[in-house]
Amino acid sequence: LVQCIGADDNAARMAEIETALRRHLFSNDLEVHFQPQIDLATNQCHAAEALIRWPRNHPLQVSPAMIASICDDRGMIGQLTQFVINTVLRQQMMWQAQGIDLSIGINLSAKTANDPGFAAQVAQACETWSLSPTRLLFELTEDSIVRNERATIECMHALRNIGCELSIDDFGTGYSSLTYLHTLPFDEIKIDRSFIQGLPQQAVSRAIVNAILALASGLKLEAVAEGIERPDEFACIQQNLPDCTLQGNLFCPPLSAADLRARLHTDTRFQPA
Ligand code: C2E
Ligand code: MG
Ligand code: MG
Repeated sequence: LVQCIGADDNAARMAEIETALRRHLFSNDLEVHFQPQIDLATNQCHAAEALIRWPRNHPLQVSPAMIASICDDRGMIGQLTQFVINTVLRQQMMWQAQGIDLSIGINLSAKTANDPGFAAQVAQACETWSLSPTRLLFELTEDSIVRNERATIECMHALRNIGCELSIDDFGTGYSSLTYLHTLPFDEIKIDRSFIQGLPQQAVSRAIVNAILALASGLKLEAVAEGIERPDEFACIQQNLPDCTLQGNLFCPPLSAADLRARLHTDTRFQPA
């Protein structure tokens, strides 16, 4: 009985979130925050990742991962991705007018990566905003690409053909077959936070991260270390991995567009906190 009540409660909460999410998507009042990515050698920010945010001051609290997963399950992922792309492009246009030029990473779900019309939609959106697709990078997890579906491969190549960049997100945590590394045109690998967290204490994490970096270097892919949170994690990266891009709360958490602009206006370099 307790389990049944729990399941009912859960179903009711999910229904409430889904209704609210549909409303927010319809009225465009979700937010997109941006987390800077920093060049290890220069401390300069050259790119950022777009991350969806539930509206502040809303009585429900819904995590970004849950927003993405509900959208994926309930047929709203196309709308969410379009909202994020349009928000990013509008923001890039405003930033460029203020002298800020950032490449922006956008997370893609497996379903979007399977959509044969997706690259054309991206090209159309870029044309509408008069912006170059080369300043957009799409992040896919291994689980989205490892099935090696024809539609995904075509979608990746189509995105690359219009000039977008492609990244493998959370690298090392999904089902890795590695064959996709030579069938898909990736530009970047993002090393998952779980390996970064292990760097100070675990020799095995250091070995894995070093192997990923060797792989990235051999394949001429950029490497991004994700979720750097602590000074000792950063110290290990500095000692062992001189050639990578940094993303994590130690340098800067995800910020609203206005806060990021203000931060970049003060200084375009980011130091560990
Ligand atoms: P992700 O793409 O791997 O994004 C990185 C996550 O790591 C973000 O969580 C970011 O806030 C978090 N992070 C960055 N630095 C640190 C750190 O130093 N410490 C800790 N603890 N966390 C850090 P967030 O924003 O909660 O997003 C979670 C996931 O939700 C994302 O993981 C991505 O898979 C998904 N997601 C977010 N926005 C979107 C979106 O617009 N579309 C889709 N399809 N998925 C999205
Ligand atoms: Mg990501
Ligand atoms: Mg990630």
